[in-house]
Amino acid sequence: MTTIIDGKAVASEIRADLTGAIETLADAGARPGLATVLMGDDPASQTYVNMKQRDCEEVGIEPHHVDVPGDAAPEDLYEVIAELNDDPDVHGYLVQSPVPDHVDYRDVIRRIDPMKDVDGFHPENVGRLVAGDARFRPCTPHGVQKLLEAAGVDTEGADVTIVGRSDIVGKPLANLLIQKADDGNATVTVCHSRTDDLAAKTRTADVVVAAVGIPELIDGSMIAEGATVIDVGVNRVDADTEKGYELVGDVDFESAKERAGAITPVPGGVGPMTRAMLLYNTVKAASLQEGVDVEL
Ligand code: NDP
Repeated sequence: MTTIIDGKAVASEIRADLTGAIETLADAGARPGLATVLMGDDPASQTYVNMKQRDCEEVGIEPHHVDVPGDAAPEDLYEVIAELNDDPDVHGYLVQSPVPDHVDYRDVIRRIDPMKDVDGFHPENVGRLVAGDARFRPCTPHGVQKLLEAAGVDTEGADVTIVGRSDIVGKPLANLLIQKADDGNATVTVCHSRTDDLAAKTRTADVVVAAVGIPELIDGSMIAEGATVIDVGVNRVDADTEKGYELVGDVDFESAKERAGAITPVPGGVGPMTRAMLLYNTVKAASLQEGVDVEL
């Protein structure tokens, strides 16, 4: 029997666990605040930002939002960032990506106060993570770790193949899983577009994490019998639905499920976890800035 790992359920447990910490902060007179910044009017980004705002309201985090016109100068965005860095009500914030082409996202990230960088993308936070002293674990890799834990997968000594080496998923996840830690201690292989014989790398893995952005790239023939499969991918493909598309992962769910011991669905797997871990990081940021110890 293949276990379908229910990301929605695990995420809702994490959100419920946060309420205690939020109450502790409230008792100390502090309400965690998360701001989103959206430059331009990309509809998908707008949806993501709206969801983050709604998530905040549901758990008792104060949502803030700033829109920046898509044709504004980079300096206008930097001004918003400087204001958020100084705003004591905003404990964490993020600039939704992608930003317009005339803005360098790395420049944007470098200007965010690392204490408020709840995405965990600032070089200081990346360095701390690599050094084994993470302040904010990036939300998607942290969510993957939590899903593995919830599925009862012991990463110690496990062979984990990560497909994708992006700065937001593949690289930080590899760095987390090789840490000398209870939720690390894995032997990690990281694959990318220049990897020779991808199937040979996935087929021998106890855990396969797909973060590629290519619909259903990884099928059942590439999965070892009984392996755990975590599908980070979210891809829109044309379909005969009301919206004219459907969401599929980077894994061919139907064939992979025949061989996997446990597998995440898309949607309903990693996506809800990413959102939950953003709330987690916001509560952690508030705790650090307010000097209030909370249980996380
Ligand atoms: P990127 O485009 O930044 O990175 C994709 C990675 O896949 C790159 O390292 C690339 O290699 C590699 N790759 C591309 N083609 C192949 C191939 N044929 N074989 C092996 N590797 C390949 O993507 P992201 O990491 O940002 O996102 C990946 C997917 O995850 C997307 O579908 C995205 O929508 C989704 N996502 C989902 C989240 C969630 O919360 N569920 C959060 C973040 C992302 P190279 O480096 O050589 O180019």
